Amino acid sequence: MTEQPSQCAKCGACTVVCPVFQATGRESHSARGRLHLLEHLDPARASTAFAEILSQCLLCGACRSACSRGLDPPARFIDARKQLEKIAGHHVLLRAITQKALGNPTLLATITTLGLPLLELLPADSGLRLRLGLPREGISADPALVEMSENESAAPVLAFFPGCYATHLHTKIITATKQIAAAFTGDVPLIPKQISCCGLAAENGGDTATAQRLAKQNIMAFSENTLPILTSCASCYSQLRRYPQLFEDDPEWRDKAERFAVRLVEFSTFVAQAMKAEPTFRFADSAAMRTVVYHDPCHLRFHSQTTSPPRDILRAIPGLRLAELPDGPQCCGQGGLFHLAQPEIAGKIRNRLLNQLEQTAPDLITTTCSGCLIHIRQGLDREPTQPEVRHLAILLAELL
Ligand code: SF4
Ligand code: SF4
Repeated sequence: MTEQPSQCAKCGACTVVCPVFQATGRESHSARGRLHLLEHLDPARASTAFAEILSQCLLCGACRSACSRGLDPPARFIDARKQLEKIAGHHVLLRAITQKALGNPTLLATITTLGLPLLELLPADSGLRLRLGLPREGISADPALVEMSENESAAPVLAFFPGCYATHLHTKIITATKQIAAAFTGDVPLIPKQISCCGLAAENGGDTATAQRLAKQNIMAFSENTLPILTSCASCYSQLRRYPQLFEDDPEWRDKAERFAVRLVEFSTFVAQAMKAEPTFRFADSAAMRTVVYHDPCHLRFHSQTTSPPRDILRAIPGLRLAELPDGPQCCGQGGLFHLAQPEIAGKIRNRLLNQLEQTAPDLITTTCSGCLIHIRQGLDREPTQPEVRHLAILLAELL
């Protein structure tokens, strides 16, 4: 039976870990406050207030990991976003968020620096459009599919889902991930033709129909074999794992989604396991001693509890000194669409992280989440001295 907002014990354990509550101190910004409002608000009569409340959550999952009642508040907020979509109209939340982003000079400046011609190549359905604050106007009925190159190996042992950011804006991540995979398996992983966006942004915006359509496209794209599916983006990995939940009411597709989800292999987990299986394998020494901070994406830290593998890898590389932030891992404030809907709060959350990074003074920051990479880089752009920010695959490929 689906849990109800009224099951919240109001104990407040979630407020201690909620990045939004920590940034604002407002009760309505905590899971407890939001559940209380959901319990008492009639969404049919309060769609604007409802949209605002729902857009003030990162869906980071920290409250779920701390909840004394074992509740899943982010799942309730996603349900409520779907409800809002039904009541207030198609794409209502996404439209509101995009409008807000278009009025934000900082976000528009970011888009400009990325280069318009490059962004024009982004498929209309790419969640990256929303993350960067690009309008969704002109979305065609048929998904604009990603046409990837033919596989370079005759007998691949791994399939590979790179995600929109690596495919359209940072292809070096694809090259690096292929090199790492080939170093351990002897083969270049297969990227099927016609993969699409993972659908995270669509589902977070309450657009279940688009999220399901994109999920079906990906499930079909990988259905020609049963290879493990390597994923180099933490956010995409988290969303791909959610596919069975997307088809709760559709037994046929739920079954296909379950068979798809069990094949997923997160990048750092793959590398850490491969290193254990080949004890003689060594990454090259880092040329000079460098201090590195691993940034935990919430999508790995709270959604799949993946925190040790990247640290195990980095500790095993001579010349790298792994440092932790004084207050432990911190959310960066990106949260899929959150930084577009709530730029001021997202900025406050990121500033807290930047402050912790400043105290740690790393030479290098590494992570595996496309959203975190974009958001942290944007924040550091304003700092006089900037540590490098690199995807873990790129860092490791340079040390092969
Ligand atoms: S999912 Fe994250 S941001 Fe949202 S209420 Fe929970 S802890 Fe706060
Ligand atoms: S930790 Fe769980 S039960 Fe306690 S206030 Fe937060 S959501 Fe409610």
